[in-house]
Amino acid sequence: MFDTLSDKLELVFKKLRGQGVMTEDNIKEALREVRLVLLEADVNFKVVRDFVERVREQAVGSQVLQSLSPGQQVIKIVHDELVALMGGGEENGLDLAAKPPVAIMMVGLQGAGKTTSCGKLARFLKGQRRRPLLVPADVYRPAAIEQLKTLGRQLGIETFDSRADQDPVEICRSAIRYAELNGLDTVILDTAGRHQIDDYLMNELVRIRDEVEPREILFVADAMTGQEAVNVASGFNEQLEISGVVLTKLDGDAKGGAALSIRAVTGKPVKFVGLGEKLDALEVFHADRLVSRILG
Ligand code: GDP
Repeated sequence: MFDTLSDKLELVFKKLRGQGVMTEDNIKEALREVRLVLLEADVNFKVVRDFVERVREQAVGSQVLQSLSPGQQVIKIVHDELVALMGGGEENGLDLAAKPPVAIMMVGLQGAGKTTSCGKLARFLKGQRRRPLLVPADVYRPAAIEQLKTLGRQLGIETFDSRADQDPVEICRSAIRYAELNGLDTVILDTAGRHQIDDYLMNELVRIRDEVEPREILFVADAMTGQEAVNVASGFNEQLEISGVVLTKLDGDAKGGAALSIRAVTGKPVKFVGLGEKLDALEVFHADRLVSRILG
């Protein structure tokens, strides 16, 4: 993951690292290269422009130029700004501090990894001693209901017995009631996806949101789709006001653009990353760890 991005930045940094004396021109040249590398990694154009400008402002400061290791200082500035870009070191965990049952609504396009992420999240929460209920609410693709029920069985986690002939809003309402009656504290709603955003889907998601008032609305984004994932995230955020993002398929050969720009474009934090098809392949997102992986 991010191998190309990582290798290319390493090349830029190699030149910088050894520099004993540095001028503004050296810095500009290095930042031009950083800019190209980020654009090639499919990072949003505006995000790259603002990022490079912030690094430049700090790097041309006289203290950096006159320090004993100006190259190292510039690298540190790039590192810190990348971490800041992705949300900094702040705690971006789930906010589930409410009277149970609390609802987590998972939304996103078809194929992004929503159903898989519901299973992973349920497993994660079970590990934190919560009692989750998985709720299949995608009635348009009957296979999706079965898929979640199968995941539930594998994980030993209860799955609500939805049927494809039910109204999704009604399913979610009944599932919350069921959780209340059965002492389950966290309800994970697997909503319908589409190949693209459409009004019908959005209306349904808004109706579910208004009915169950979820504590978290997590947009599931496929990192492999790069800037497209960022655009779709913005669309969902405008209509639904998401609370965070689960970025899937970071184990693949995603160029990194989505991971680097989704926070800056949507203003919403990446809370989890998916690193494989298996149910334990979910990690809490830490911007600093990802940057360290990228910068080596
Ligand atoms: P949904 O349509 O959004 O519910 O998507 P699914 O959960 O059915 O996932 C679509 C495909 O992506 C499946 O083949 C999953 O195994 C795969 N998938 C989901 N998350 C990840 C991930 O983090 N890494 C990889 N490599 N594959 C994933």
